[in-house]
Amino acid sequence: MDLRFTEEDLLLRAEIREFCRTKQPEALRRKLELGQHLEHEDYVNWQRILDANGFAVPHWPIEWGGRGWTASQLYIFNEELLRFPALLPENHNTAQVGPVIIAFGTDMQKQRFLPKIRNLDYWFCQGFSEPGSGSDLASLKTSAVRKGEFYEVNGQKLWTTQAHRANWMFCLVRTDNNAKKQKGISYLLIDLKSPGITIRPVHIMGAHRVNEVFFEKVIVPVENRIGEENRGWDYAKFLMGNSRINVARIGLATGRIERAKSLAAQVMVDKKPLSENPRFREKLAALEIDLKATEITNMRIVADQLKKNEIKQDPRASILKLKGGELQQMTAELLMEVAGPHALAQQGDFLAVKDKALGPEWAPGIAATYYYSRAISIVGGSNEVQRNIIAKGILGL
Ligand SMILES: Cc1cc2nc3c(=O)[nH]c(=O)nc-3n(C[C@H](O)[C@H](O)[C@H](O)COP(=O)(O)OP(=O)(O)OC[C@H]3O[C@@H](n4cnc5c(N)ncnc54)[C@H](O)[C@@H]3O)c2cc1C
Repeated sequence: MDLRFTEEDLLLRAEIREFCRTKQPEALRRKLELGQHLEHEDYVNWQRILDANGFAVPHWPIEWGGRGWTASQLYIFNEELLRFPALLPENHNTAQVGPVIIAFGTDMQKQRFLPKIRNLDYWFCQGFSEPGSGSDLASLKTSAVRKGEFYEVNGQKLWTTQAHRANWMFCLVRTDNNAKKQKGISYLLIDLKSPGITIRPVHIMGAHRVNEVFFEKVIVPVENRIGEENRGWDYAKFLMGNSRINVARIGLATGRIERAKSLAAQVMVDKKPLSENPRFREKLAALEIDLKATEITNMRIVADQLKKNEIKQDPRASILKLKGGELQQMTAELLMEVAGPHALAQQGDFLAVKDKALGPEWAPGIAATYYYSRAISIVGGSNEVQRNIIAKGILGL
């Protein structure tokens, strides 16, 4: 792939579209389209379908159940799923902790964890952020004190997405208080059923997706540490570089624009379909141009990675995070405009008006998606922090 897809890329795209069409349960597709709440089983069943069809971890090496895909193949896969829409493979498992174990884990850890990470028997959440340690992650305080063959972990994590569904956490802990702050951190895998762990929900606009997690004298075997003690920061950086390449979620914005167009043709304003309204069309055109520009930037970065045959941290991924996030927010806002006052009957995760759709069936979930999209400016590194990276890493300021 350069700035256009090869024949093989197009064949793969067709294969993925067919897979989504034939294998994803229609009820799940509909829930995703309508922005409705997903049950535990929705995630688990879908991950198992992906796994059975060789799509759970296609970018992993073949010996660990992957297909050894390149960056461009993975890009096409992710964008097609988002556009359909279909659920992506569980991100924390397949794009974050899995690749870290493959790169830095022992053989025993690989054999023990990777098959269960693939099929979601082990569902991992990410325990990085803490109160006061988000953007300045290296200041984290959760401590792990070595006691023979165990660590004793004490402290608190915050904003832990899906901790209430997960049964494992990959966690950054402080193992040396005297070293420079980045040098005293280790990377542990923690069984969330261990005594001393409390998980409490944090509701955002009524939705329960994130949590706070408390550790009180939690015993973690040393064999659950990935790599060397005090080198956890390096592994976390590897993980971030690995997962940022597909952060723009072009397919999601593309799918939403297609949906806005089709819904706007059904919504009447002043006795004419909204899709014929000049101001609406102007807004749509501006968004589509922005989307195309971001897509080309994304493809350029993927093509560069392909040439170098490596996936590593690229400061340009911050452009993708910023622009992709803005597009997700703007397309959510566009759908809000299409739904108009009907969007007030929120459903999905945000049960303001329980089970009462005041307008068409497709309207209520749109508000839920819109509200949650505000968090994109913060999740995975705030917009301000991305701008700092662009200023330093690309503009050389
Ligand atoms: C919905 C959601 C899900 C999340 N999921 C997870 C998860 O699963 N696991 C996990 O570990 N974390 C998760 N996070 C945490 C997320 O990574 C942090 O919220 C983020 O890194 C920001 O940290 P903070 O909240 O501590 O804000 P702070 O770092 O305190 O930032 C506050 C404000 O100051 C600005 N700021 C901070 N430093 C700078 C700087 N150097 N220059 C300019 N401006 C700056 C920020 O942009 C922000 O506007 C999640 C957060 C959200 C909202």
